[in-house]
Amino acid sequence: MRKTVSSCKELTRNLWWSWDTEAKEIFKELSPILWERVNHNPVELLRHISNEELQSRCQCDLGKKIERVAERFRSYMNEPATWAAANAPELVKNPVAYFCAEFGIHESVRIYSGGLGVLAGDHIKSASDLGINFVGITLFYKEGYFRQYLNHDGWQLEDYPLQYAESLPIEKVIGPDGKDLIISVNIAQSEVFAQAWSLKVGRATLYLLDTNIPANESHYRDICCRVYGGDQNMRINQEIVLGIGGVKLLNALGIDPAVYHMNEGHSAFLTLELLAKELEAGIPMEEAKKIIKNRCVFTTHTPVPAGHDRFSRDMMHYTFDRYLQQSGIEFDDLMLLGSEDRSNIYGLFTMTVLALNFSRAANGVSKLHGEVSRQMWQKLYGVSSADEVPIGHITNGIHSQSWASGVTDHFWRKYTDNLDTLTASRQAAEEVLARISDEELWCLRYRLKRNLIDFIYRYLGNQLFHQHTHSMYPEYDSSRLAKNTLSPDVLTIGFARRFATYKRAPLVFRDLDRLNRIINHPTMPVQIVFAGKAHPHDDAGKDYIRQIVEHSRRPQFSGKVIFLENYNLGVAKRMVSGVDVWLNNPVRPMEASGTSGEKTVLHGGLNFSVLDGWWPEAFNGENGWSIGHGETFDDYQEQDRFDAEKLYSTLENQIIPTYYEHDENNLPVKWLKKIRNAIATIAPEYNTHRMVRDYAEKYYLNRNND
Ligand SMILES: *Cc1c(COP(=O)(O)O)cnc(C)c1O
Repeated sequence: MRKTVSSCKELTRNLWWSWDTEAKEIFKELSPILWERVNHNPVELLRHISNEELQSRCQCDLGKKIERVAERFRSYMNEPATWAAANAPELVKNPVAYFCAEFGIHESVRIYSGGLGVLAGDHIKSASDLGINFVGITLFYKEGYFRQYLNHDGWQLEDYPLQYAESLPIEKVIGPDGKDLIISVNIAQSEVFAQAWSLKVGRATLYLLDTNIPANESHYRDICCRVYGGDQNMRINQEIVLGIGGVKLLNALGIDPAVYHMNEGHSAFLTLELLAKELEAGIPMEEAKKIIKNRCVFTTHTPVPAGHDRFSRDMMHYTFDRYLQQSGIEFDDLMLLGSEDRSNIYGLFTMTVLALNFSRAANGVSKLHGEVSRQMWQKLYGVSSADEVPIGHITNGIHSQSWASGVTDHFWRKYTDNLDTLTASRQAAEEVLARISDEELWCLRYRLKRNLIDFIYRYLGNQLFHQHTHSMYPEYDSSRLAKNTLSPDVLTIGFARRFATYKRAPLVFRDLDRLNRIINHPTMPVQIVFAGKAHPHDDAGKDYIRQIVEHSRRPQFSGKVIFLENYNLGVAKRMVSGVDVWLNNPVRPMEASGTSGEKTVLHGGLNFSVLDGWWPEAFNGENGWSIGHGETFDDYQEQDRFDAEKLYSTLENQIIPTYYEHDENNLPVKWLKKIRNAIATIAPEYNTHRMVRDYAEKYYLNRNND
């Protein structure tokens, strides 16, 4: 039995379990209530379970299940016949070094804020599945991103619970001398030290740099406190530790990457450290630049100007003074590398410009975003047409296995080996779908929606319990649950994402009378579930949350419009699996890709979205709905008015009637046909296996230049 106990512990030490349904079932089975309470963190779970109990539990069926899953885990780890072994052996020999300021791998590891992190998390999982030798570099944020709760007025408040290394599946990185490995970077006039943690994500390793050690003055310890926390000064310090510190860590570990992938501009200072190394070796500047450029690739993630870090010349001078003295790079040369206007080195230093200057290939994250990025950065390249700008695109995907709920995973496995075979191609998906009856598909939908509704009541109940204050929704007091409840018979719309203002969360409330008629239709009603965090400094985003909460309490919407606090990966998983329609109404073309809508598809959810980000590529008229046809207006009031009108009319004339049109067997056959079309056309294309293969073939392998 000791062996089984140690197999169980072994499973907790690699986040592989987070995309294995059976592994998750083991932890849940150990104690369903504790599992919820520890936020699905198995390391924490086992800290609450005695060895006696665990040994005893391993002596029955659970023990057999643990051994079976551990066996599967070990064969996954040792599988030699991977996609990369066959198609990209160069990327098996030397690793891809992937730098990102956040990684959203699982809700229990709180080192992410939103879509960028979730994408990085899904990327690293697929890289592992495909057998690419892959190391991620990020920071260890002691406080993570905030936990959101709302006061009685619906105003967002933030809370920063600490996360402790002992409660996470991370190991301290040890140097060759057997002591903690410590690297250092120069910031202003100080030497700032960082230790490192490693986190196993399947076959991949994520390194987390951590300045929270006694060797540092307290304000430098706090660099690794919060994801995107603090002011500009904090931001530049974080980016130095991530970029420069990251390269130093790889050097100290003796890792020689095949390629450096800067996922968003935050990590672009890594190029300076690579450059400094070449200069130190006596390579002349211009040649050194070429060498570095040939080793790096860059992905840009947003057309929103505020999403691109820019630092003042003074701040750059102050922060890099000692670094430049030691590395032999001139300050004006540095400023030139980050100047949008090459004739003016006295302006701002833009991280995206630095990254573009030092990458052999760059990309946006959807076809449309590629076009927008080429226009956005055309002036850097001095070319007459945006088409000549060397920025391509690879459209974002999701890691399908991570986003499949247990129910959904079991459902598909009745008809096929696993989700990888289902999503291998459109043809493969169609073959599987042909084996499934409409009754079974509709049964899945009901079951998932019921699970979501059950979850929402538990969740609202917990909110009530934890706050000991006024509840946001007093009507959900359990004694009154019968009244005004969500119903699985009702068309359910979901909207959840960061509350950046361009995403326009409250758009559906533009005409309250019309929305009232839609939601409270006597025979074809609708209910809507919202969730999302606003950045702590974004009062406009917080006001959007407040507005939605206020609307949700109006008598006509009470119990039919719900806002769920503290959106995170766990809440996202529940929502994307339960809702019928996933709503997305950003201002086009501000949504670079968006991925949340891709997560709903294998659960039988349908997308209803502005033709922005990934949706113009995926939408075929039959696999969901669009809001308008990509019309854009200079006046934002005009844009909101137009898009809201399209949103309402499409709901009224197409979506709602299709959902409620049932045949003689009480099945919504046209709706089910759309679900089938969405699964066949979207799931095989908009996943990270396809995306990471694209990165490998188009960006990581450098066969032409070698
Ligand atoms: C998928 C996801 C996002 C990104 O959603 P978008 O569609 O890009 O807006 C953000 N946060 C969480 C928790 C997610 O799961």
